[in-house]
Amino acid sequence: MKYQKLVDVYEALAATTKRLEKTSILAEFFKKVDIDTLPKVVLMALGTVFPPWSEEEQGIADKLLMKAIADVVGVSVRDVEDQVREQGDIGGAAEKLYKAKSQTTFFSQTLDIDFVFSTLRKLAKISGNRSISRKIARVLELLSSASATEAKYISRTIIEELRIGVGEGIIRDAISQAFNVEKSVADRAHMLTNDLGLVAKVAKEEGEEGLKKLNLSPGKSVKPMLAQLSEGIGISIEEMGEAICETKYDGIRVQIHKKGDKINLFTRRLENISKAIPEMIDYIKKAFPDEDFIAEGEIIATKNNKPISFQYMLQRVRRKYNIEKAIEDVPIRLYLFDLLYFKEPMIDEPLAIRRKTLEDIVDTSIDQINLSEMIKATPENIQDAVNLFNESIANGHEGIMIKNPKEPYIPGIREKKMLKFKAEPETLDVVVVGGTYGVGKRVNFIGSYKVALQEEDNQLKTVAHVATGLDDDTLAELTELMNKYKIVEKGTKIEVEPRIILEIAYSEIVKSPEYGAGYSLRFPVVKRIREDKGLADIDTVERLKSMFKG
Ligand code: ATP
Repeated sequence: MKYQKLVDVYEALAATTKRLEKTSILAEFFKKVDIDTLPKVVLMALGTVFPPWSEEEQGIADKLLMKAIADVVGVSVRDVEDQVREQGDIGGAAEKLYKAKSQTTFFSQTLDIDFVFSTLRKLAKISGNRSISRKIARVLELLSSASATEAKYISRTIIEELRIGVGEGIIRDAISQAFNVEKSVADRAHMLTNDLGLVAKVAKEEGEEGLKKLNLSPGKSVKPMLAQLSEGIGISIEEMGEAICETKYDGIRVQIHKKGDKINLFTRRLENISKAIPEMIDYIKKAFPDEDFIAEGEIIATKNNKPISFQYMLQRVRRKYNIEKAIEDVPIRLYLFDLLYFKEPMIDEPLAIRRKTLEDIVDTSIDQINLSEMIKATPENIQDAVNLFNESIANGHEGIMIKNPKEPYIPGIREKKMLKFKAEPETLDVVVVGGTYGVGKRVNFIGSYKVALQEEDNQLKTVAHVATGLDDDTLAELTELMNKYKIVEKGTKIEVEPRIILEIAYSEIVKSPEYGAGYSLRFPVVKRIREDKGLADIDTVERLKSMFKG
């Protein structure tokens, strides 16, 4: 099938903000695509050519892409940069520049979907000698055969940002509409496999029956089960009747997959971070039996056996070079708390069984591998849970988790099966959409950040300007990120792509027509940059409204 057909669909999707319309457009298209191309189209509709658990990336920096576009249309890189500033993104700039050159035709061949997909995938495989020029050659091959709109979307797929307002939810609904399968069945198949391409293929070929047979598979990350807020330790334990209470560690959540000899570690956003913390893989190998499994735990950074800031852990994960030195400088520890697969799927077992199996199989004589500290609580021994909480805070941890021992593990949900009780008041995760340069000593830094929450259909609504809680290092880091994601700059004001997630504390929610959300935050303070979260994880206007005390 021609790539232009997919591009027409992208354009139609970008032209509407209505979720139902987007779903129908995609559903109609999915029906027409043949079975081998369907999984590819599903990934490409999400703006990528790799499944979420893949370690591979195309590895084309924005600068290189701009250079390739400049070469194809015969302008300078500066011209491309100017267009990017004007259009707001590289894809838009490519389209504009191609159109301006419309008298010359670039097309040497018609692009089809499979060719674009496989060429983009091959980019990830190119490494070693002259890899950059070899990658560029591939990109040029695509771009020089592309029409203006094709160039727009090839560019956007390379930077993995399609800007068509389609997320996994819409794709899932479109699959269910196209192949006439229950939404809940498609949802479950997605949560278990984390592979929408596969879900689409099975839905088309085998319908609901096929989807019901899909299950967890080590090596493919699953969406983690998330926690709700507990209103109080006593109340929650009384409601559950009995509970497993565990220390809540403040690090990063990891999902550990072993399949054959290969161990992979995934973050909460299902990024593969195996390469960043190789020492942990060695510890895990020693501590677990040689069977396929999926386990979950929290990795924290320590100094003298005490937990240190969560930011250190993030730095470890982000690091690509000097890993040896980081291993020495920032020792890490794993606290295991769940087992999703051991020889076979275990998520339908109650937590009590999953935990017991974890205890039976893990060798905790290795210092860095631990089980999360836990107690069994009932309404008769609530004080034990309170003591665990106090101990947790005294030891530099975050609070406690209160979990229902009878419940299965349901990927991707946030329900009362698992609760969290923290020492600090609740915070909000927001995305930065703009900022203002500071004055005086902060003139080179962006001192104030305009932040937004999400509303249904992925719309962003501004909610506050936050300017406090930032030390000089964080300011410098944020300013650098802001420049990386800059769309436009006017005077001291800058607008950015919604990429940077901040966790914000505040004193009160107030009504405020000045902000898109209709509400604002009094005295907002940045707690930290949440690199472990993405745009899909930020808080919603709905949640803000439900928290508003009136
Ligand atoms: P938060 O911002 O509070 O960490 P979150 O949105 O990242 O919340 P939640 O599911 O709401 O995620 O909170 C639970 C998180 O707490 C888990 O994702 C995990 O990272 C962490 N955690 C720490 N210790 C435990 C534990 N013993 N059991 C389960 N989760 C734990």
